[in-house]
Amino acid sequence: MRVLVVGAGPAGCTAAVALGARGHEVTVVEVGARIRPSGPGLVLQSAPMRALDSLGLLGACLERGYAHDEIDLCDARGAVRTTLRPPSLLPGRPASIAVSRVALAEVLLGAVTASGSELRLGTTVTALADHGDRVEVGLSGGTTRTVDVVVGADGLHSQTRRSVLPDAPAPRATGQLVWRAPAPRPAGVSRYSMLDGGPELGKVGVVPVSDDALYVWLLEPDRGAPRPAPERLAEAFRDRLRSFGGPVPLVAGSPLGEVDVRSLQSLLVPLPWSRGRTVLVGDAVHTTTPQMAYGVGMAIEDAVVLAEVLAEDDDVPAALRRFGERRFDRCRLVVETSVRLGEWEQYPPGDPSLPGRLTGEVLAELARPA
Ligand SMILES: Cc1cc2nc3c(=O)[nH]c(=O)nc-3n(C[C@H](O)[C@H](O)[C@H](O)COP(=O)(O)OP(=O)(O)OC[C@H]3O[C@@H](n4cnc5c(N)ncnc54)[C@H](O)[C@@H]3O)c2cc1C
Repeated sequence: MRVLVVGAGPAGCTAAVALGARGHEVTVVEVGARIRPSGPGLVLQSAPMRALDSLGLLGACLERGYAHDEIDLCDARGAVRTTLRPPSLLPGRPASIAVSRVALAEVLLGAVTASGSELRLGTTVTALADHGDRVEVGLSGGTTRTVDVVVGADGLHSQTRRSVLPDAPAPRATGQLVWRAPAPRPAGVSRYSMLDGGPELGKVGVVPVSDDALYVWLLEPDRGAPRPAPERLAEAFRDRLRSFGGPVPLVAGSPLGEVDVRSLQSLLVPLPWSRGRTVLVGDAVHTTTPQMAYGVGMAIEDAVVLAEVLAEDDDVPAALRRFGERRFDRCRLVVETSVRLGEWEQYPPGDPSLPGRLTGEVLAELARPA
């Protein structure tokens, strides 16, 4: 089949790889003139690593990333309260990996090219006309493509979603602000540490992503204050990190890379996730806050399941409807759990063991096949 994928983020690239591997003729259009992943790094849990493995991409991600079998949960001073040891679903592989977003994008784009897919940068969709047996797609630049399937992987503010599911709800701010920056990895910082300063100070994570690099994040209540000017962001981030101990002073004292600040948003589009021959994947239909570290994970799983359902049924619209039906409950679990954990960060529950217990239960549920 001829497939047009809109967006070359993690969802679009992995969809192209999964569909290309099944012999489909894939074109990916990306509005950016170059790929510029937002944010410094991310964590991939064991179940998405399993999905990456099925696409033949896990080895490259392990080579470029940093293995984490344990996460230290600390108080604001850095004293370890408890250590999480999530199980690995892949024998001989770590329970999770952290990787820089640039490294992940390089692995995925390399795989898109190797799969024989065409990647068109600086290109977007200007018109979609579903004729029942095919879709005519107008592209910026004035050309037209005739395809069998359109995959909307254009993220949180998806134009494809607006076009095919105009009544879908809008993303919702969840009341938290996240600060993130890359930094060199000091020799003594080798573990993923999360430091909890309570609702006032927020929460900090220090995440090694390679032998040389790590990223640091801070979650705090979004008080609606104006954002500092770009040249003041690093200083404002350091001010906030000053309240934390453990590895944080060492990291905050090193040169921070570009600081990214944004308010967290979530979105779960009700079914259907498709109309006719156009389907939505990734953040375009399920944007999660980062508490479960599973947004890219869902995108990768979407890609694998989409390729499977299209292989099972010649009736494309029916296969695309089944894609949404197969994915919805799992994605809802991730989005709703992440939002709940974020609420507890702002309004701690009476029982402080609840967040850890819920995270463990949900990761166990996500160990089931996607
Ligand atoms: C603070 C934070 C931390 C996170 N941490 C993690 C983590 O640790 N682990 C994890 O798994 N997930 C994490 N996530 C979630 C993750 O970043 C997203 O879920 C993921 O990037 C979604 O991938 P996507 O491809 O669907 O969308 P995007 O990454 O948004 O990619 C969409 C692509 O489409 C392109 N595009 C947009 N509009 C058009 C158009 N009209 N035409 C053509 N192209 C278009 C964009 O330029 C972009 O390249 C985090 C998110 C945040 C905010």
